[in-house]
Amino acid sequence: MTTTELVTFSRPAVVSTLAEVGLVLSETKALLAKLQGSMLCGQVAEYAAHHRACVGCGALQPLKDRRTRRLQTLFGTVEVEVPRFKACRCRQPVPMTGVTVSPVRALLSAHCTPEPERVQAELGARTSFRDGVRILEALLPVSPASHEGLRSRTHAIALQLEAADRQAAAEITAVRDDTAKAAAADERRPVVMLDGAYIRAVPGHQVRNFEAICGKVEREGQPTRRFALVRSVAKQPHALLRAALQDQGWREGDAVTAISDGDPALPALVRSATGGPVQLILDWFHLSMRVHHVEQVMGGLCAVEPPLAPLDHSQIDVERLRHLLWNGHHEKACEALGRITSWAKDAIVLNDTAMEARAKRLLARCTELRSYIETNEGALIDYGQRYRAGKPISTSRAEGTVNEMVSARMNKRRQMRWSPRGAHRVLQVRAAVLDGRFGHQAIQLAA
Ligand SMILES: [Zn+2]
Repeated sequence: MTTTELVTFSRPAVVSTLAEVGLVLSETKALLAKLQGSMLCGQVAEYAAHHRACVGCGALQPLKDRRTRRLQTLFGTVEVEVPRFKACRCRQPVPMTGVTVSPVRALLSAHCTPEPERVQAELGARTSFRDGVRILEALLPVSPASHEGLRSRTHAIALQLEAADRQAAAEITAVRDDTAKAAAADERRPVVMLDGAYIRAVPGHQVRNFEAICGKVEREGQPTRRFALVRSVAKQPHALLRAALQDQGWREGDAVTAISDGDPALPALVRSATGGPVQLILDWFHLSMRVHHVEQVMGGLCAVEPPLAPLDHSQIDVERLRHLLWNGHHEKACEALGRITSWAKDAIVLNDTAMEARAKRLLARCTELRSYIETNEGALIDYGQRYRAGKPISTSRAEGTVNEMVSARMNKRRQMRWSPRGAHRVLQVRAAVLDGRFGHQAIQLAA
């Protein structure tokens, strides 16, 4: 055991103001930097001493020279002494050829310890790269860094996370065909909720905005697993979702439920990730919004004073729409929409211009809803029944994911523009950070 004096604080024993109580940041930073330097150099010196003995005969190898190496840590960059030894005679093919050995080089395998890499990546995923640098410099005795440095750390960690996901996805094995187990698993089937978000592209990119797909995999009794990707730059987009499913206990052949907004690309991603049975559900929220549009126009028609024309059954039909769709009667909903549209067509011809505009709008909204129902026919369910069973029917939670993953970091209000690759990488780290699986995984990877 050794004792080293690191820093000296001079403080009044009896303080007179609140500011004098306890340590202050500048002192703490100095203390941490000194402590880190002292501890690290001591450890490296011990390591060198320990490895000085020849592995062949155990004799101490003579010291040749000492070089210095700089090692970045979370508590400052430390200059370490790296001794080199003359290789023991017994280890040399031809005696006295001057072969040197440097055991410390094997220990200091990188310019940076794993922890600052992880902390920088986490900051880069949470806030802008510039702010991340400011936060680090404000609180820790780190050496001055650049936002480019923070960005490249974040990207490097993202690549590791993505590679780990691809590996996990490749290693998923099929479940044995066991019907009892399958039935039990059915009750706790993972639900994938997907949604898209647009991100502003950097100038010079071929498009103004590009899409990121965000989602969550939920399974009863498990913490949520997030995932996100920019399809055009993800190496294997489906592998990222596959790894998320695997994290939730899914195995090849297990059924999956997917809720999305009717964009056919989203269920396609789920299908390619699972390669097995997928139950598609059209998100109730998006369906309900379209019903709402019809209801609004109808409300406007009913409110016209004096009433311009007999609304016949249309008003009742519109009132029933929501109920029909909620209970899974989408064919009846389509019939009702057919009656409303034919009424609207008549109304356009028969009535005056004020009525005509409204009827045209009703016609447009109904046609829109009908084609939405028809394109997503296979994904319409009895929402009421599912809702009463306590199962999710909406991607509103996936939309929450979009907000926390994309909007909070890549928002247009922040005037941020992204390259698809940069956005994709930050999203990998951000998903891991928000899930709380980041620290553990990243340290393992960097080791
Ligand atoms: Zn020897």
